[in-house]
Amino acid sequence: MDPDRRTLHGLGLVATAPRLLVLRSLRQQDRARSAGEIYAEVQNAGGKLGLTTVYRTLITLSEAKLVHTFERGGETVYRLCGEGNHRHLVCRRCGLVVEAGDLDRALHRLPAAVGFHVEEIYGVCTSCWTDETEPSTAMR
Ligand SMILES: [Zn+2]
Ligand SMILES: [Zn+2]
Repeated sequence: MDPDRRTLHGLGLVATAPRLLVLRSLRQQDRARSAGEIYAEVQNAGGKLGLTTVYRTLITLSEAKLVHTFERGGETVYRLCGEGNHRHLVCRRCGLVVEAGDLDRALHRLPAAVGFHVEEIYGVCTSCWTDETEPSTAMR
């Protein structure tokens, strides 16, 4: 059984064609992407999915906690993460997400003092930071 089918089965979800196509697209990148970007990639790969289906599929997958959601420039972006509890470092320019397993304790201790639970930290990744002369390419 391919890994995506197995993952969906493990969550009690039927491995429908849209779910498999969206998962395959998500697997291609470490960046979190919008429904529109994922839709465009599925189209480019020859998949026949409507934008609404892509959107609904992403909601289903994120409700199952398989896909994590973030914010980039005011829109929701989606990423297929690893399993287990982790927090995130998120680039607010390009949507790059790093699962911050090693930083967990540090991230936990600091905000606990002010009664805050940190799920993700937004910032700018190294390549966006050094790429400041071309901000338009970072927003693709
Ligand atoms: Zn995650
Ligand atoms: Zn970045």
